[in-house]
Amino acid sequence: HLDVIDLSKEFQGEDGPIVAVEEMNLSIEKGEFIVLVGPSGCGKSTTLRCLAGLESPTEGDIQLNDRSVVDSPPMDRDMAMVFQNYALYPHMTARENMSFGLKMTTELSDEAIDQKVIEVAEMMGIKDLLGKKPSDISGGQQQRVALGRAIVREPEVFLMDEPLSNLDAKLRTEMRTELQNLQQTLDVTTIYVTHDQTEAMTMSDRIVILNKGKVQQVGTPLECYHEPTNRFVAGFIGSPS
Ligand code: ATP
Ligand code: MG
Repeated sequence: HLDVIDLSKEFQGEDGPIVAVEEMNLSIEKGEFIVLVGPSGCGKSTTLRCLAGLESPTEGDIQLNDRSVVDSPPMDRDMAMVFQNYALYPHMTARENMSFGLKMTTELSDEAIDQKVIEVAEMMGIKDLLGKKPSDISGGQQQRVALGRAIVREPEVFLMDEPLSNLDAKLRTEMRTELQNLQQTLDVTTIYVTHDQTEAMTMSDRIVILNKGKVQQVGTPLECYHEPTNRFVAGFIGSPS
């Protein structure tokens, strides 16, 4: 399980400090699918980046299975992040992109790593693309490679920042279902940021609603819809009034 404890992140803006995340507390069970939503600038990406170790929180702690990871480098956190723009290494093939993290963090032989990469590539339907570079494959295929890269690491936690938002509507719907099946099969704790209300309502076990860096409500989609804790949540979710 994953615990976020009194997490705050401040940036130094030109006109003084910007509080991107303010005293966030979350308790997430193993295997839960959490969707993080809220208006632009409310701190969703900053939260994921703090969890992933790409930003250092100003205050607070992050614990994975009761162990603080807040001072660990990203590779040692047992969390894998997937970005909106895929963020594949452009000079590497799909195979190299997928194996890179494992080469950095495990003692596995090159053969064992390659075997894993092939298995995951088969599962993701991208085995034929392993020799190609990102620029030679479509956006949807790049996103599969990016997901595959996260999966081969067998992380405890997936952190996904609008992973499907660059895909066209048809592919997005397709990938949404695939991703859900995958998440359930792997039983991997997932924190998923999206602007897409359908994704939030249909994919999540629980939704976390943020506004201006503060958690407004944590609950199942139905709870948030039918029992919003405040007007902001009601307005954001579109609860019946
Ligand atoms: P969006 O939905 O547009 O992606 P978001 O919820 O992901 O928004 P964040 O990117 O987390 O929002 O930003 C939260 C706040 O922190 C914003 O006010 C943003 O301008 C600010 N911020 C984020 N990163 C930095 C940074 N590196 N330096 C200064 N301010 C930052
Ligand atoms: Mg963002």
